[in-house]
Amino acid sequence: MELSARRVTLRLAETFTISRGSEDESEVVQVEIRHGNLIGRGEAAPIERYKESADSAVAWLERVELGDDPFALDAIGDALPPGEQAARSAIDAALHDLQGKLVGLPVYKLLGLRRNGPPTSWTIWLGDPDDMARRTEKVAGRGFRRLKLKLGGRDGLDAERVRAVRSVTDLPLQCDVNEAWSLDEALEYLPQLDLQYCEQPLVAGSPDGAELKRRSPVPIYVDEDCHTLTDVAACADRAHGINIKLAKSGGMREAVRMAHAARALGLGVMLGCMVESGLGIAAGAHVASLMDHVDLDGNLLLAEDPCPGVAFADGVQLPAEAPGLGVG
Ligand code: MG
Repeated sequence: MELSARRVTLRLAETFTISRGSEDESEVVQVEIRHGNLIGRGEAAPIERYKESADSAVAWLERVELGDDPFALDAIGDALPPGEQAARSAIDAALHDLQGKLVGLPVYKLLGLRRNGPPTSWTIWLGDPDDMARRTEKVAGRGFRRLKLKLGGRDGLDAERVRAVRSVTDLPLQCDVNEAWSLDEALEYLPQLDLQYCEQPLVAGSPDGAELKRRSPVPIYVDEDCHTLTDVAACADRAHGINIKLAKSGGMREAVRMAHAARALGLGVMLGCMVESGLGIAAGAHVASLMDHVDLDGNLLLAEDPCPGVAFADGVQLPAEAPGLGVG
């Protein structure tokens, strides 16, 4: 099999702000794996928080040897160089795409999964309370059935943000604090707020995680605390659920393992994403039916999606029925 990679810059429709900063565009790396006359494709969305970038992904991909068998996922996975979870995920996606094309099945069927997952949330990124309420009103009518609020303004206004959004919508609300609260802040805010869950309120590795889990009236999901299968067991002490992202797990195969491990520990499971084109989001959509909550709005945030292939229907990001990932 022959591997090639290229960088693609994705432009956001509007500036996206979270507790760590703002962005107008995002660079991803798309890979192609050629096998005979078929091509499998996948996308890497490197996460800066974990010291990955398009540069580091491309450098890692140059060292990858794939062999000749696209079905030999264990053997290929064991032979990959360490690190670079996003680039690893692009290889995993491209191999699944190739497998689906070889056997004539969409990836979700290849994995024995359902096509329909839970509805995706739409992200209301961080801003002043009024501004977040205004953007919530603007998105009404676009068909979203869940809203995820980015909190962590470090200005004492986070509860106000949730109340402002609640005053203009009846949709279920979720929040993502991106590590910005202390234990005291979490215990002050959470009892006041009407939320389905709260994602990563505390800094990753915080010694207060277990106490917050015990005392929080709102389910706590961890994101920055949970990357791969080896992290899942420890999350049971500090959270009610985990946020799986393919760019952290290294792909769909590990994501499926994580979902099952989480269930065995009594944890809820959600699937998140980064700013990604439809190619990256498609890989998530094919495993979304395993999840309790889905946050797959990365391609919907773009000014223009260069790789359409996921259908947004009745609030759900539906994978295509064409063979493989069904993108292009
Ligand atoms: Mg998050």
